Amino acid sequence: MAKRRKGPGSNGADDHPDARTCHWPGCERQIPPHYWACAEHWAALPKRLRDRVARAYRPGQEIDKQPSREYIRTAQEVHHWMVEHDIR
Ligand SMILES: [Zn+2]
Repeated sequence: MAKRRKGPGSNGADDHPDARTCHWPGCERQIPPHYWACAEHWAALPKRLRDRVARAYRPGQEIDKQPSREYIRTAQEVHHWMVEHDIR
């Protein structure tokens, strides 16, 4: 279980305790830990990649930090796709 930490200056409005940022390069939107990207960028991925990410995802991997090999491979594919499309 992740510990909720509130630093000074955090108003903690409605941020998820484990929130992290979108994987999309340069995007700093906060997303729940089991999401790959924010809604906008998730929609920007080709469906075949979204399907693969969704399939490879194992519930709880963001907690124990042990994504499956398939998930890692898929993440690399997404990365290649971004490089091909010059997404930075
Ligand atoms: Zn994003």
